[in-house]
Amino acid sequence: AEKRAKPRITVRLSSPRGFCAGVERAIKTVEETLSLYGAPVYVRHEIVHNAHVVARLSAMGAVFVESVAEAPTDRPIVFSAHGAPQSAHADAAQRKMVKIDATCPLVLKVHTQARRHVAAGRRVLLIGHANHPEVIGTMGQAPDGEILLVQTIQDAKDITIPDDRPLAYVTQTTLSVDDTAGIISALKNRFPDIAGPAKEDICYATSNRQDAVKASAPGTDLFVVIGSPTSSNSVRLVETAKAAGAKHAMLVEDAEQFDWDMIDGISTIGLSAGASAPESLVEDFLTALASEHTLDIKTIETARENVVFNTPLRLAS
Ligand code: SF4
Repeated sequence: AEKRAKPRITVRLSSPRGFCAGVERAIKTVEETLSLYGAPVYVRHEIVHNAHVVARLSAMGAVFVESVAEAPTDRPIVFSAHGAPQSAHADAAQRKMVKIDATCPLVLKVHTQARRHVAAGRRVLLIGHANHPEVIGTMGQAPDGEILLVQTIQDAKDITIPDDRPLAYVTQTTLSVDDTAGIISALKNRFPDIAGPAKEDICYATSNRQDAVKASAPGTDLFVVIGSPTSSNSVRLVETAKAAGAKHAMLVEDAEQFDWDMIDGISTIGLSAGASAPESLVEDFLTALASEHTLDIKTIETARENVVFNTPLRLAS
């Protein structure tokens, strides 16, 4: 039989995408803890928000728990990249556990700022999403009720400030750059003297990935972001793709979970991956796509990254 020509599809591949320096460091920290102490090693919260990463480390002997109290005192505990409230650090110290902190240095920077503002007598407003572990960690840098959460422009307009202490704001690191700019300007409108960082605390990886998606999404029939639904920065990339003109945009865990019928009849697909998604998942997706299509891959590169963070263990061992 004659071989049928595969339909052509253009892939607009965002760069940078996938792993950031904080995620690389956090994963390596668990691996190094396992090789130094042997299994099991306990990890407070998913080390990074990716199901594949968590499954791989579980198979190596990592045990994921939601609180320090769930871990035995005679095994090391690693704190996830998202950071932890002071109470979790205190729990580990009180239980005399070996604690290894994989909190991203860019999250720790926000914690330090929040504590400094509180120590200087300022009331802190945290711009972020309720219940995200990073927000729980940052709110937990000061006693309950000290740091107030602002999630939307409406919140910025409505929030009741309980006293007249001077104000400051900090932000979650994985927010939408554009949405956050709107919230900050609403706060500055209402509180012209509010102190804050020069720009915002959104990290380089989050903003670079959003920039690359903004540049690659226009003209795509479908934009796919590889990542887990719990990953804040990945969900923001889907919103960014939609706002930048992708006809459809969606988050998918991996090629297996993807509904391949969605590709029928489309000519241009955009592709990126959240900061916690391994590049192998992007490669698998492209391989699966290539089995039925001839690919015309265009890499849209908007930045080059060379950030590397040393693991905490390299200093300790
Ligand atoms: Fe750190 Fe940003 Fe990566 Fe979060 S997304 S781990 S803040 S570099």
